[in-house]
Amino acid sequence: MRVYISTDLEGCSGITLFSQTRDPASPLYPESRRLLMGDINAAVEGAVQGGATRIWVVDGHGNPMNVVPELMHPAAEYLCGRGFPETWGLEAGFDCAFLVGYHAMNRTPDGILCHTQSSRSDARYWYHGREYGEIGQSAMIAGHFDIPVTLVTGDGAACREACQFLGGDVVTVAVKEGYSRECCRMLAPVRAHELIREAAREALKRVRRCQPYKVELPMPGRMERLQELLPDAPTPDNLDELPRVVREKVFTDQLHIYDFS
Ligand SMILES: [Zn+2]
Repeated sequence: MRVYISTDLEGCSGITLFSQTRDPASPLYPESRRLLMGDINAAVEGAVQGGATRIWVVDGHGNPMNVVPELMHPAAEYLCGRGFPETWGLEAGFDCAFLVGYHAMNRTPDGILCHTQSSRSDARYWYHGREYGEIGQSAMIAGHFDIPVTLVTGDGAACREACQFLGGDVVTVAVKEGYSRECCRMLAPVRAHELIREAAREALKRVRRCQPYKVELPMPGRMERLQELLPDAPTPDNLDELPRVVREKVFTDQLHIYDFS
């Protein structure tokens, strides 16, 4: 069984502030990397216990250099750095994909650190007229390679969104529940790791029940974002009055869905 693990930082256990995730120079960032490793390694360990023979971890947050190499589980290989392959490595062939540390789409009221691709440009994406967050987008890209997503971990809102897009068979682990964009009630990371390990084992059994995410092609898409990045501060109230860039495009595959040029 071959498992592809795509990771993000905002949905990891122990993380609730953008100042923990946005700026590698932040004093909080080194701790965030260790928290990320805890959630990743729990997923890897669960996959190993479930019989995985190849496990790739793909660092998907910001400038993808978030993993702490010396803490990586020895059963995993990992991708990070600049200039990722266009296929995100998925063409190597995997039986299922896990999305670890994910968050809900932009503007989800109870979504901890919710955003879609860029939190500081208030970006939003629609495909076939339906608004997507990163869970749906990642599932679409894995679906291009006929790989089903069988596990999603993140906050409660991310898990709800995962079921809305992927159906009820996907295994989810809520490691925190949001009160607002930067405040939540969290499980202790140690407890979150137990749940993630258990869920990863179960997720390997769902490979046949979870279908690869497929959309009708060609597919009309739309992307909206602010012209200027927001400062690293709480979201301003006048967001809808700020000037925006809007792009529309018809996509002929599920792989290049971020490219609105
Ligand atoms: Zn992120």
